[in-house]
Amino acid sequence: MAQANGRKSIFITGAASGMGRETARLFAGKGWFVGAFDVNEAGLKELQAELGVGNCLVRRLDVTDRADYAAALDAFAAATEGKLDLLYNNAGIGRGGPFADQDFAEVMDVVNVNFVGVLNGIHLALPLLKATPGSLCFTTSSSSATYGMPNIAVYSATKHAVKGLTEALSIEFRAYGVRCADTLPGLIDTPILPQEAKDHAPKEGMFRLIPPVEVAKAVWEAYHSDKLHWFVPAELVELDRASALDPEGTRNLIAQGGPLAAADEMGKAS
Ligand code: NAD
Repeated sequence: MAQANGRKSIFITGAASGMGRETARLFAGKGWFVGAFDVNEAGLKELQAELGVGNCLVRRLDVTDRADYAAALDAFAAATEGKLDLLYNNAGIGRGGPFADQDFAEVMDVVNVNFVGVLNGIHLALPLLKATPGSLCFTTSSSSATYGMPNIAVYSATKHAVKGLTEALSIEFRAYGVRCADTLPGLIDTPILPQEAKDHAPKEGMFRLIPPVEVAKAVWEAYHSDKLHWFVPAELVELDRASALDPEGTRNLIAQGGPLAAADEMGKAS
């Protein structure tokens, strides 16, 4: 089995595709040992071939399955002598539509993958993070955690939950020397986005379509920083500020034209 042999190590969920995959590439390129986990085994195999078998541990993991998550962490710890420099809880699914029309089993799938999966990961990996000086617990929230977004209400709510959890734990985990941070990406060009959303993405502004490597770079910078929230692109922070300062105004803008129109108005105002 591949071994870290003293290299720094990152454990990534949702690593077979999109931003998880780009993060695996970027960190492997910087000499880190990569643990890549996903339900997509074919994607993991491709990634392993690209990174080299000696540079990564790949394993199927369903983040909603706590026992499976524990076993994946055991396998990882056996390769890293019990160390974990960066836990990246990134796996997620997007299911949208009006809440009233959503199948409830689908609603719970979103909650389980996007939030319970993150709880599983952090709770189980904490002993490894505590055993590793300078470690970082990183999560993928979303620009949909700046304001509750209609038609992806549950998805948006899970991302608020991830953001809130990260903030709270960034304070609690200080006692262990473990940092916590998250990324709030806008529209990133990955398979999770419906083609229609990509086709209608504006050419400029905070909701322009962004390559997933930009999120990978934010993860890298986050490891070397104490910053809490990593908006990708950085201007998205304006949406976060506006919704905190004027929730009713933001609600009206989103109700009138959706988050893109709201962002557009804020762009004009700033
Ligand atoms: P993606 O679909 O390319 O990657 C998500 C990965 O998660 C896939 O490989 C998928 O197989 C995996 N996954 C799904 N369910 C899983 C499970 N139960 N256990 C383990 N792995 C599972 O999409 P992405 O855009 O790279 O998504 C990564 C994260 O970014 C997600 O949390 C997503 O919600 C979030 N996000 C995406 C965007 C965007 O515009 N693409 C914006 C904000 C946040």
